[in-house]
Amino acid sequence: MKSILVTGGAGFLGSHLCEYLLNKGEHVICLDNFFTGSRNNIVHLIDHKNFELVRHDITMPYYVECDQIYNLACPASPIHYQYNAIKTIKTCVLGMHNMLGLAKRLNARLLQASTSEVYGDPLEHPQKESYWGRVNPIGVRSCYDEGKRAAETMMMDYHRQNKVDIRIIRIFNTYGPRMALQDGRVVSNFIIQALGNKDITMYGDGSQTRSFCYVSDLIEGMVRAMNQDYIGPINLGNPGEFTILELAKKIIEMTGSSSEIVYRELPKDDPVKRRPDISLAQEKLSWAPSVPLSDGLKTTIEYYRKMCSIPNGY
Ligand code: NAD
Ligand code: UDP
Repeated sequence: MKSILVTGGAGFLGSHLCEYLLNKGEHVICLDNFFTGSRNNIVHLIDHKNFELVRHDITMPYYVECDQIYNLACPASPIHYQYNAIKTIKTCVLGMHNMLGLAKRLNARLLQASTSEVYGDPLEHPQKESYWGRVNPIGVRSCYDEGKRAAETMMMDYHRQNKVDIRIIRIFNTYGPRMALQDGRVVSNFIIQALGNKDITMYGDGSQTRSFCYVSDLIEGMVRAMNQDYIGPINLGNPGEFTILELAKKIIEMTGSSSEIVYRELPKDDPVKRRPDISLAQEKLSWAPSVPLSDGLKTTIEYYRKMCSIPNGY
């Protein structure tokens, strides 16, 4: 049995990862400051004999014994990471530094949940790991984009200089049950709006594209990336590319909603297109996503239908 620290373990992806690792028979230390995560995401794991829950903020040093660290702690929704931009960049950079220090002291393997945002508003399409990206260093998204880029830099420097055992994955838009009701990212927003027959808030004209990966596919790729030899970075995402308008129409149809689409201003620096090239993940991890958008949306809609029918969501 390995002892595994999951930072951000009470968040959307973190809670699915904790569950996956417990099911594999590992011991899981779930660390979270509950900024965007919730105890409700992991309440079903609390009594598991191999599960520990720690309230802590990774911008402060943390000491524990473990074999592996998954560093997921960081708000991921643009609304949440821009809410306190200084805190976001501190979480990305100071948090990464603290986790690298911990990994170095323990000789533990550390996987960083990086992001497709390191490619910014890309000129290369689809995006390969070799692409250096096109990121505004001083814009409203920079606390996250540049924070994650600096975290990758620190990971590589600790690896080159101190031989810290690192893995980096670049996650592309992932969705599924347990995204917070107020998360603000597009899939949960549209589903919740559609289920309530409320206006669907389309930012811009909806021609911008994203590629949506279902959470179970992503978690499988993440664990494979941790337990193999390639250092990274490795793109993880679903190459199926959709315009945001297509997504809205699909969700309206699948929910049988009477919602209307209303157009709002496109947020600053919102990338025009995004699609992962996953040939590296296919080669190194023998991984490719298997859940089509329609199937993933069906499960996610069911989840929110249940959540929205309960006062306060739970
Ligand atoms: P989330 O907001 O649901 O989860 C983030 C978790 O980190 C939350 O539980 C939050 O409370 C916790 N957290 C935030 N700051 C912290 C701090 N300083 N100390 C301790 N805990 C802290 O988001 P998510 O979608 O689950 O994302 C998880 C990770 O994956 C993030 O690092 C994110 O950047 C990365 N990622 C996610 C996606 C995606 O599409 N879901 C895409 C790219 C990258
Ligand atoms: N978006 C939208 N309406 C919403 C939320 C998001 O049109 O209510 C758009 C957003 O402008 C972006 C895309 O959907 O072009 C994906 O946004 P999200 O916040 O999910 O993630 P991003 O990929 O931008 O980080």
